[in-house]
Amino acid sequence: MTEHYDIIIIGSGAGGGTIAHALSESPAKILILERGDFIPQEDENWNPEAVWKHLRYQTSERWVDDRGTEFRPYTHYCVGGNTKFWGSVLYRLRREDFGELEHMEGVSPAWPIDYETLAPYYERAERLYHVRGNVGEDPTEPPHGPYPYGPVAHSDGMSEIVEELRRQGLHPSALPLGLLRPGDPGGCILCNTCNSFACKVHAKSEADVCAIRPAVQRPNVTLWTNACARRLFTDASGRRVAGVEVERNGRIDRVEAPLVVVSCGAINSAALLLRSADDAHPRGLANSSGLVGRRYMAHLATMMQGFHPLRPNHTVFQKTVAINDFYLRGPSTDYPLGQIQSQGRTHGVMAQTVVPWIPVWAYDAWVSRGVDWLVMSEDLPSPDNQVTIDGKGRIQLVYRPNNTRAHRKLVALTRRMLRRLGFWLVVKHSHGARNTTHQCGTLCFGTDPRTSVLDPFCRSHDIENLFVVDASFFPSSAAVNPGLTIAAQALRVADHIKETELRWTGD
Ligand SMILES: Cc1cc2nc3c(=O)[nH]c(=O)nc-3n(C[C@H](O)[C@H](O)[C@H](O)COP(=O)(O)OP(=O)(O)OC[C@H]3O[C@@H](n4cnc5c(N)ncnc54)[C@H](O)[C@@H]3O)c2cc1C
Ligand code: SF4
Repeated sequence: MTEHYDIIIIGSGAGGGTIAHALSESPAKILILERGDFIPQEDENWNPEAVWKHLRYQTSERWVDDRGTEFRPYTHYCVGGNTKFWGSVLYRLRREDFGELEHMEGVSPAWPIDYETLAPYYERAERLYHVRGNVGEDPTEPPHGPYPYGPVAHSDGMSEIVEELRRQGLHPSALPLGLLRPGDPGGCILCNTCNSFACKVHAKSEADVCAIRPAVQRPNVTLWTNACARRLFTDASGRRVAGVEVERNGRIDRVEAPLVVVSCGAINSAALLLRSADDAHPRGLANSSGLVGRRYMAHLATMMQGFHPLRPNHTVFQKTVAINDFYLRGPSTDYPLGQIQSQGRTHGVMAQTVVPWIPVWAYDAWVSRGVDWLVMSEDLPSPDNQVTIDGKGRIQLVYRPNNTRAHRKLVALTRRMLRRLGFWLVVKHSHGARNTTHQCGTLCFGTDPRTSVLDPFCRSHDIENLFVVDASFFPSSAAVNPGLTIAAQALRVADHIKETELRWTGD
């Protein structure tokens, strides 16, 4: 029997979880489809071996690259999606990111909305995800009222580094972080297994804890876990989605609703629309522009570590410092370079994944004397960087990094900065084209249906009752972490849906 709802939301991560939370306050009958399950609270949550060696929580699915070579993507299918494993660095885009920006190797296109349009939703998203930060330190910060909570204090070791960076003429600022009640009983214990781990005590601000669990308390919201949307199907007109074909408990079911919100993550949402091709939409659903799956971006990211053999690093929670001095221009260039953040502590087992023959005790000795950083630059939307479905039905990800000169410059600047901090050696590592953590851009939003897939409220130009609220809508990747922007836009879309689609509810 086909079940009927008012709204179906596919995916429960940053976009899906947030919009489910916002729409749950309306009387609409909502079904959330999530292909994964809840992550159990268990010791393995914080066990580097379980997470990094045995890949306990990572999908076992295989995708293929541009050469057709299979790989196991670094992505997580579970309630809360990738937010369960994020570092919870929750940034607003810079005001300049919303306009057109000239980069070293091309142009980062303008968004169809400006910073001021999203600012009130950023504020709401910061409240929902308990963001802690400090206004007034960051030279690139857009207009911003006080954060809901004050910043997480730097450790003694990081405070010394911050002072030294100031002496270098830089402007280090507090990283905005989503953490629940740090230091309070039952709250965040500021441990060294946050980024890439699930929080065993549920004190990380992520979509499962902050959005989905409160939403499903309401009688109008139903969550199906282990329920994978295989395809969307349209009505006879071909202009409306009629429902979703779902694989669940080994069966294929159909569910129907007058409104469907897709939020499977930028790669899987594009894949879902492509897999929904039918006679009326042979190139895939919502694809009159031919852009579904194209313009994939993921940031250029390099992990760097400053090492000093005689200086043990006693910091436990290290992820508190940002350096945005080179975000919009570098010391010897007028082009944007990107952002530098301190990172969570590297564990020996994590480092061993890079060169497996070196014993873990050697890595442990090494990382106990290292301070970790993430260097991140914007990549530019290229139609050739693309998600497609191959002949065997697998996701194919074609990605050739661009704007790499700017990134190399930022890596060189960071190396110099770390050497000036007194580190003897600076090492770096990048996952390159396989790094999908900040995936975005595959269904970009805009005003022109010929050059965008979604309108500025993330509604499909082609299919009037279809919205997409995950990272797909980004026209450019900017160079800060994407999560808060996804959540803010999901809240904006929820308001729009309430105003335009749910008026009949009296909401
Ligand atoms: C280790 C790690 C650290 C990160 N750190 C940060 C950080 O500090 N700050 C930040 O801003 N960002 C960070 N990110 C990125 C951030 O997690 C993502 O940008 C964000 O989660 C994307 O939100 P989304 O809604 O697009 O997709 P997701 O959060 O990935 O959610 C997609 C959901 O859809 C489900 N799904 C997929 N396909 C289907 C289907 N066919 N049917 C049903 N369900 C489906 C998935 O299971 C998943 O739950 C990090 C990511 C990782 C992996
Ligand atoms: S306790 Fe705090 S630092 Fe540790 S995983 Fe949870 S949220 Fe992150």
